[in-house]
Amino acid sequence: MSDLAFQDGPEFAAAMDARDPLAHFRERFCFPKTQNGEDCIYLCGHSLGLQPKTAKSYVEQELRDWAELGVEGHFHAKNPWVPYHRLLTEQTAAFVGAVPSEVVVMNSLTVNLHLMMASFYRPTAQRNKILVEGSAFPSDQYAVKSQIQFHGFNPAMCLLELTPREGEFCLRDEDIASLIEREGESIALILLGGVNYVTGQLFDLAKITEAGRRAGCVVGFDLAHAAGNVELKLHEWGPDFAVWCSYKYLNGGPGCIGGCFVHERHGRAWDLPRFAGWWGHDERSRFQMGPDFHPMAGAEGWQLSNPPILALAALRAAMDIFAEAGMDRLRAKSASLTAYMEFLLNRQASTRFEIITPKDRERRGAQLSIRLPRNGRQLCDQLIAEGVIGDWREPDTFRVAAEPLYNSYQDVYRLAQHFSKKLSWQ
Ligand SMILES: *Cc1c(COP(=O)(O)O)cnc(C)c1O
Repeated sequence: MSDLAFQDGPEFAAAMDARDPLAHFRERFCFPKTQNGEDCIYLCGHSLGLQPKTAKSYVEQELRDWAELGVEGHFHAKNPWVPYHRLLTEQTAAFVGAVPSEVVVMNSLTVNLHLMMASFYRPTAQRNKILVEGSAFPSDQYAVKSQIQFHGFNPAMCLLELTPREGEFCLRDEDIASLIEREGESIALILLGGVNYVTGQLFDLAKITEAGRRAGCVVGFDLAHAAGNVELKLHEWGPDFAVWCSYKYLNGGPGCIGGCFVHERHGRAWDLPRFAGWWGHDERSRFQMGPDFHPMAGAEGWQLSNPPILALAALRAAMDIFAEAGMDRLRAKSASLTAYMEFLLNRQASTRFEIITPKDRERRGAQLSIRLPRNGRQLCDQLIAEGVIGDWREPDTFRVAAEPLYNSYQDVYRLAQHFSKKLSWQ
């Protein structure tokens, strides 16, 4: 629906919900309650997605099999634990646009980032830089700096940061392209987020991959804020690797197991250095317990440990709902909800705040980042106390995201109401 057709007022929001084909999915999630016992207006799926009501029964199944079968559950549980992670492979491949052999669920995000860099960041005297966003998530910054140091290089020389132009908040596509062109020969690895966690900017991952590979760089993406949020075509775009977490838009639960993509062209690259563990060993001979490591083909060859089944079970509950709704329908609703939120906020025509997320729908996902230079933190805290849950990123950004599986147009309308009231009181 075009923004021109949006209207203010609660009737419009109710009418939009009434004809939303995905509206019924809301019933499948547990909502935190306000002090009055009402559902919170939960707009924080970019930080921690809500719990699917089915997560409990999926986890209980594994607890029951553990209780009743003990070690036998590895092969004889209802869903045997040894191949359990594969129950997630097809759906995972679908939402990142990969072929199944290119993905695996394992570890958590930062661990996977390190494992991928162990294989794909191979600095030489001429080509040793890592290109990142200037405002990359701290964990990513620590990970890349420590990798640079691990290889005996100096982060002050080898970390190349993309920063917005003076007075701007987002990066321009042409600036990313020209930096890759200018510095390409010295860049070993391009490592960007799919969606920036502060601004909500979605990068043109296809173009960045193309430019990076043309310049001879390895290309990797941190999709923490992109997985389950926007449509991805990793196989087609062709980055070397990608990593993500599953507790944000994917609703896998706090600290849930992460995901990893390794492009098919590296699936049988046996000469690539990698940090090895027994779960990455060829499954046909894994339990012969031999001393020499022979990796599985594909992304599974980067596994280290046998995975936490209880976490996988909770994630499977969420993935089953995802598959039912379909990423294309979710993205369409998400774009509409976000545009509606932008429409309502902009009607307030206040100079107190500014939406710094790109206006172009192709350049953002669900999140809107609202810059509030004066008393913003206080406003965010007050909203949370009233049960309107977004979050705050220092120094001045209030982040909200309407998640199409469980948020409604009425949630967005109420957010705008509360926000406007708070702005006028301060
Ligand atoms: C959420 C997030 C993380 C968190 O890393 P964990 O290893 O899952 O704790 C890291 N990087 C980015 C970009 C994130 O958005």
